[in-house]
Amino acid sequence: MIIAVDGPTASGKGTIAKALAAHFGLPHLDTGLLYRAVGYQIFANGGDPEDESDALAATDFPDSLLENPELRNEETGGLASRVSVHRAVRQALFERQRAFATQPGGAVLDGRDIGTVIAPEAEVKLFVTASVEARALRRWKEMALRGESHTLPEIEEDLRRRDERDRNRAEAPLLVAEDAVVLDTSELDRDAAVAAAIALVEQHGLASR
Ligand code: C5P
Repeated sequence: MIIAVDGPTASGKGTIAKALAAHFGLPHLDTGLLYRAVGYQIFANGGDPEDESDALAATDFPDSLLENPELRNEETGGLASRVSVHRAVRQALFERQRAFATQPGGAVLDGRDIGTVIAPEAEVKLFVTASVEARALRRWKEMALRGESHTLPEIEEDLRRRDERDRNRAEAPLLVAEDAVVLDTSELDRDAAVAAAIALVEQHGLASR
């Protein structure tokens, strides 16, 4: 069974995807991390994120980079969102994601275009979302725990900018797949969001087997 989990930044999709993978005994790929690695690598190369060939060169990042905790910070997230608009970058990362999705036994992948581009045949497609305010508050708490100090309005502004870039780009924009189920986590805590996602997979995925 392939489970596609898409949605905007800080919607809870990563937490949900990880929990679904553990619950259903499936491998999990956080595809945002691949784009973050490209963003980080372009910075390390001294390249321009707006330049498609610089961005393509950065897709050749070493696998060990995926373990680097700096990939999780806001700066790298912003760079990831800038390099991910390029078609050449998306094509370069396609095979790796596609191979993961189609491995025997199935997989859980989370990102922006899993249900629309990477695995349109996924048995279950969840689109996890939440209000900008709820997402900004979560980000702010995570960042405070890591000792990063940004104000709530700064984080909200950054989320809005990234949402807009992800939704309006020409290549694989963030959109709700026709056959996706929307899960709004604005009012849910972690455990409630995970329980709701498991129930949706049981309802939609296991029925389609
Ligand atoms: O999900 P995460 O915040 O780690 O993703 C970072 C950025 O990578 C996103 O803002 C988005 O622009 C890009 N991305 C993408 N397609 C994916 C996953 C992430 O374009 N499947």
